[in-house]
Amino acid sequence: MEFIIKIHRETFKQIIDFANNNPFLECGGYLIGKIKENENQMTFIITAAFLDENQGTKNRYHFFELTRKYLEEYCKVHMKNYKVIGNFHSHGEYPAIFSKEDKIMEENSPNNFCHLIYSPKYEEINGEIHIDGKKTAKARVTFFGKNREITTNIVKR
Ligand SMILES: [Zn+2]
Repeated sequence: MEFIIKIHRETFKQIIDFANNNPFLECGGYLIGKIKENENQMTFIITAAFLDENQGTKNRYHFFELTRKYLEEYCKVHMKNYKVIGNFHSHGEYPAIFSKEDKIMEENSPNNFCHLIYSPKYEEINGEIHIDGKKTAKARVTFFGKNREITTNIVKR
């Protein structure tokens, strides 16, 4: 199975700007969109981001389950075909690599949930999918839609 995270450039721009508001502290939020699946591919199409006001620290960001549940309810009522399909957080002065803490956070997230990390310092993005239990998979991150400003590197490891 191949996993792909396809993010609208406008949404990605919002995440970059949000991370750059305070590039030394981690920040985060949730990703809203649709999942498309066939026999050999699962594609997470992200069309909006919820930017959480709660700041993290220099090397930690905490996700609140309540926020995710609130957003899920919001989508059900106001955005019929869209769901909370993942989360993102920034990595301040560190590369966009999943840490031990990130792995634990991933394992505690819902099944088939995508995770993005953006590093403002290295201008790079990295994505993984939580499948179920302790199973996670690397995702290929791609973009769609218009926004000239997006020049970020995609982590390939
Ligand atoms: Zn992290």
